[in-house]
Amino acid sequence: MPKLELSFPNGVKTTVQSDLFINNKFVPALDGKTFATVNPSTGKEIGQVAEASAKDIDVAVKAARDAFENVWGEKVPGAERGRLLLKLADLVEANLDVLASIESLDNGKAFSIAKGFDVAAVAANIRYYGGWADKNQGKTIETNDKKFTYTRHEPIGVCGQIIPWNFPLLMFAWKIGPALATGNTVVLKTAEQTPLSAIKMCELIVEAGFPPGVVNVVSGFGAVAGAAISNHMDIDKVAFTGSTLVGRNIMKAAASTNLKKVTLELGGKSPNVIFKDADLDQAVKWAAFGIMFNHGQTCCAGSRVYVEEDVYDQFMDKMTALCKSLSVGDPFAQNTFQGPQVSQLQYDRIMEYIESGKKEANLHLGGVRKGSEGYFIEPTIFTDADHNSKIAREEIFGPVVVVSKFKDEKELLRIANDTMYGLAAAVFSRDISRAIETAHKLKAGTVWVNCYNQLDPQVPFGGYKASGIGRELGEYALANYTNVKAVHCNLSTPAP
Ligand code: NAD
Repeated sequence: MPKLELSFPNGVKTTVQSDLFINNKFVPALDGKTFATVNPSTGKEIGQVAEASAKDIDVAVKAARDAFENVWGEKVPGAERGRLLLKLADLVEANLDVLASIESLDNGKAFSIAKGFDVAAVAANIRYYGGWADKNQGKTIETNDKKFTYTRHEPIGVCGQIIPWNFPLLMFAWKIGPALATGNTVVLKTAEQTPLSAIKMCELIVEAGFPPGVVNVVSGFGAVAGAAISNHMDIDKVAFTGSTLVGRNIMKAAASTNLKKVTLELGGKSPNVIFKDADLDQAVKWAAFGIMFNHGQTCCAGSRVYVEEDVYDQFMDKMTALCKSLSVGDPFAQNTFQGPQVSQLQYDRIMEYIESGKKEANLHLGGVRKGSEGYFIEPTIFTDADHNSKIAREEIFGPVVVVSKFKDEKELLRIANDTMYGLAAAVFSRDISRAIETAHKLKAGTVWVNCYNQLDPQVPFGGYKASGIGRELGEYALANYTNVKAVHCNLSTPAP
């Protein structure tokens, strides 16, 4: 298929392949099908990309299996795998503007944020796992003096990876980093809303020198290509980030096929607790960043804010002023903080939540479209919502926050934890004992104290309850990409 010729308002120009990436080659879908990827700032098509079917997934899995058996896995020393990952991280940095421009165009996030956060974090994550590639050792385990026992951390094999559209390139890095460092090969499906930045990354994967078949990237839809991955009999593990609904389907598919290993990073409705002794100006800034960052399309978004009664009015005044001041608009404009939602479907979903919220609570700010084209929504604040209302319980995945006041700390903790989710939470207080005690009582995989949305490659991330299974990032992620083998060597015990 023809390459897409892209030129951006910031002067960057590039071309992007529109095909599937299998065995280090760009190839069209076997049945020639394509689909449109859309610019969410305008609603107009950017171009057509290949649409993978189950047959294409078979070809990609075969390539990944061959590579695993012959040119990767334990065939390649960890130090060499690490060297390639470090090279890839350098190439990402050398192509920062191009990758960030593609991300802004396809996803709608502000170019400055795509460059300063997303793509910078892509390089940092890949580099971090490059460092791990020769350091993930097993143990020797003492049992008795007639035996020598040790463990090996072996790669699992072919990993299917299915990623969402909210951080297209960063999710790509979170997935491939630990998988490749530990010697697995990958068939990764991008989200249908945002296929382009990952395809560009494939050029860098070739340039870095990864052997053919180690990384295979397919674009396509969940019900077809995604389901073909989660049902595939020759995929050994599937890693998924996206909705809880689809996460359940992935587990069912794994259970009913080859019981492939499953890790899931799913949704959230994360509570953010502001005590009256917090530095209120800082708390307001972090709370606004906690929900409005990435247009609210963040799995760990602080979408439920609980403010201690005594400072509630002050908090609301400051939060309202800050949210009003956030600049919503063209992702390529210099001061933009918030671009459009990713798609018409997401825009419609969020507007439906806002409509239902108006019946259940007080719409304090926003709640309307911004402009007349694209999928822009004004930062939105609801107050006086019942804890059991839809907007207070369900993940909205948009720039919509529910702020409530609390008086009784025990009741606050009960409400904060009364959710099917458990991805993240935050607490703001100057009293370190109170902050840490609260952090320990919040049932979530991540708790931020006096900050929000902080993610480091070294620190694990993942959910309690229906927010997921397993951990990404940090040393913990390596365990999700390795089989532990115990080897018992008899020294001199005679047979029983
Ligand atoms: P989704 O879960 O449908 O899509 C995420 C990924 O899964 C995409 O690559 C998609 O193609 C794939 N997929 C979809 N159906 C599949 C299936 N049956 N088998 C295998 N793969 C499949 O998410 P969405 O529809 O794009 O967004 C819906 C909601 O999901 C959002 O409103 C938000 O609440 C949530 N979400 C969460 C995250 C997160 O980071 N946790 C990311 C995106 C969306």
